[in-house]
Amino acid sequence: MKKCPKCGGEHLAPIHYGYPAFNEETKRRVEQKELFLGGCRITGCDPQFHCFDCGKNVGKPPVLLTNKYGEEDYRDIVTSVKFSDGGFGAGFDEVIIEKLPDRIAVHARSSRPPFDADGELSAKEWKKLLDRLFCSLYVHEWKESYVNPYILDGEQWELEFRLTDKRVRNTHGSNEFPAYWDELKETFQPFFIGE
Ligand SMILES: [Zn+2]
Repeated sequence: MKKCPKCGGEHLAPIHYGYPAFNEETKRRVEQKELFLGGCRITGCDPQFHCFDCGKNVGKPPVLLTNKYGEEDYRDIVTSVKFSDGGFGAGFDEVIIEKLPDRIAVHARSSRPPFDADGELSAKEWKKLLDRLFCSLYVHEWKESYVNPYILDGEQWELEFRLTDKRVRNTHGSNEFPAYWDELKETFQPFFIGE
């Protein structure tokens, strides 16, 4: 992980769970903030990194824990992904990728330049997309809303996941962006390039 999905800080250290062998080397690494002691492991999906900029533990596996279903891997239960980004006078992009019973359908449209296309993803490409979103960009650790109240109009964006059982996870913003914004844009950029 290069930066914290919560604050964008780059001062991250791996978390060591359990009882460390407390030798000089461990002590030095903890003091130098190269290692963070996380104590006992509580669940099977503990965060992997400590951020020394915001003080949070981040880099959780993509696990959703609910009373109804227990532990689920997001990548197994996502049924559609929608990303949109646009702004007043600046154009608009939207891509919807939907897992249907027989295929994975892609619908992308843009006004910069005008583009409107339907396509498909292979199962392998779908898996790669979800791996990237959840295991490299940590979208499940983003805030629900990123809003800069001091700018009117400007740029609005939305990333929405539909999950099995009609569940929805949405993160969106207005003139404010998550730490992994550039990587998110790069992820969806290929869908707007015509053949
Ligand atoms: Zn942080």
